[in-house]
Amino acid sequence: MNKENAAEVLKKYFGYDSFRNGQEEIIGSILEGKDVMAVMPTGAGKSICYQVPALLMPGITLVISPLISLMQDQVKSLNEAGVHAAFINSSLTENQIARALGLAKEGVYKIIYVAPERLENAAFIQFANESTISMVTVDEAHCISQWGQDFRPGYLRIVDFVGHLPKRPIVSAFTATATREVKTDIECMLKLHVPSVVVTGFDRKNLYYSVEHLAGKRKDAFVMDYIEKHPKESGIVYCATRKNVDALHEMLFKRGIPVTKYHAGMDNGMRKKNQEDFIYDRAPVIVATNAFGMGIDKSNVRYVIHYNMPQSMENYYQEAGRAGRDGEPSQCILLFSAKDVMIDKFLLEKKEFDGVNDDDIDLIRQRDARRLQVMEGYCKATSCLRNYILEYFGERINVPCNNCGNCHREYTEEDRTADAKWVINCIAETRGRYGRNIVIGTLLGANRTRLKEIGANAYKSFGALAHRNETELRQLIDQMLAEGYIVQSAGEYSVLQMGDIRRLKEETARVVLRTFEERERTVSTRKIKRSTDSLTGAGFRLFEKLRQLRLAIAREEGMPPYIIFNDKTLIDMCAKVPGSREEMLGVSGVGEHKFGKYGQRFLDEIAAFLAAHPGSVLSSEAE
Ligand code: ADP
Ligand code: ZN
Repeated sequence: MNKENAAEVLKKYFGYDSFRNGQEEIIGSILEGKDVMAVMPTGAGKSICYQVPALLMPGITLVISPLISLMQDQVKSLNEAGVHAAFINSSLTENQIARALGLAKEGVYKIIYVAPERLENAAFIQFANESTISMVTVDEAHCISQWGQDFRPGYLRIVDFVGHLPKRPIVSAFTATATREVKTDIECMLKLHVPSVVVTGFDRKNLYYSVEHLAGKRKDAFVMDYIEKHPKESGIVYCATRKNVDALHEMLFKRGIPVTKYHAGMDNGMRKKNQEDFIYDRAPVIVATNAFGMGIDKSNVRYVIHYNMPQSMENYYQEAGRAGRDGEPSQCILLFSAKDVMIDKFLLEKKEFDGVNDDDIDLIRQRDARRLQVMEGYCKATSCLRNYILEYFGERINVPCNNCGNCHREYTEEDRTADAKWVINCIAETRGRYGRNIVIGTLLGANRTRLKEIGANAYKSFGALAHRNETELRQLIDQMLAEGYIVQSAGEYSVLQMGDIRRLKEETARVVLRTFEERERTVSTRKIKRSTDSLTGAGFRLFEKLRQLRLAIAREEGMPPYIIFNDKTLIDMCAKVPGSREEMLGVSGVGEHKFGKYGQRFLDEIAAFLAAHPGSVLSSEAE
């Protein structure tokens, strides 16, 4: 067993020529018999790190995974690659489980995925005791930490299970989300033996971050506009509430966008169907609450839009991180309005704590409040957004990334606290009877008959802000509405009234107007670089043909298209235009087993295209 074999396995089964950052080190440690803890961002390629050694070790590798859908996806991918793998979980009947365990005992499977709850099951324990278990891999290892939001009590059983095996296997733990607390927890709770700890950076270079300050209807308009400007692309729009999901879904659906939705208020069958429509690209856009996404491995998600601010950076990074798992450029856009912060505060106050003692409740509340502050800080940041995230996760980087919304903007901030106080005075003087136009006219000291009629020219606030212009006052009022200092009544004749001005009375209170100029095009019209950019017009037509073939095969096989081959692989085919088995095996992502299953059909498609378009140049990257 050595690294050369590892490289061979990588090529033979997965069709890749080289390891990515961190993979070789992790695989090397496992093959030397060491425990491993790996913290790698989403999309970095964690699965390969335990799948490759699993194929090189004599016995079975058990992978503990929190979610059924995740297991199913992984097992499908492995079977496609020609690796014998299975999962055992509650989606199977007792008979199916007995059969799977029977085959496992005969040594049919190299890799078996199980839910943590299974580790308590007598039949399963008996199987494990009678088999050679070379490694126990703990996927999503942060689920063992009570600090995290994804705590799974079942994970606490892992140590006992491992401890009772006749021979202690190697234990390897993988996660994408680990703050210092969580990392320590994983190491201790899993009782790792002097593990090799590999932490690759958190940065996801292919993700573009931006925050747009928008309230109410303007959020809808933004989402609509964005989706219409990015047709054919797959994306997720996260909303804070089910009601929002329903409303936004309906709006998009009426516009003819192929969209589906997901939230906990829908029945199981519906959720499953919608999730599959999304995964199989029948409905490439999904509107969902944060109940959606755990265990979604869809690799071609090109954008994740948050309609509301999430409650913590941990949540945000995980949800936004579902974009671009295939390494292609993708966008993560957060639509922020100050009202979101109030909703989140309200939700946190309502949070229930069953069976938690009072001291802990206080601690958790403080922690939640702190997390919310960090998130709000992100939304209000004027410097590099990527660096804000990385610093929060403990990485120190000082140069701006030049690949986020803030790096492309020039911000100016002005303190308008004194003006805000005049707005409050004016609304007091109108006794909340008038709308924006009267309030603004009064503050500007406008010479209008209507103002004289109502006696506004006698107010103290009349002309108090004559040095400002109307646009500035509108902006200020929007800002004050968003911060809750004033409120606007609903209806046709909406009037401005006093909101909660207690905070404004504090000496440190500030009302800050933020304006910016885009140095680049705005996020919804920005042209994102894609690896299809290297394709010529003809190359793109071949790419479309190969996509159609992939879709047809996916339908025949009942498999998501990206499990057959991902976009990167198809693009590489367009660049390399393979004409033989050997050439096809040189394409990134084409392993021997997949070649056996589909290779010829793709070779035929490419040959037919070349025959119909002789002499055409397909890619600027072709040799
Ligand atoms: P993670 O679990 O870390 O989020 P995955 O294991 O799902 O990431 O891998 C993400 C993608 O990267 C998959 O499509 C996988 O096939 C691909 N990948 C992994 N390792 C390599 C490699 N060495 N070369 C090319 N692609 C790779
Ligand atoms: Zn930046």
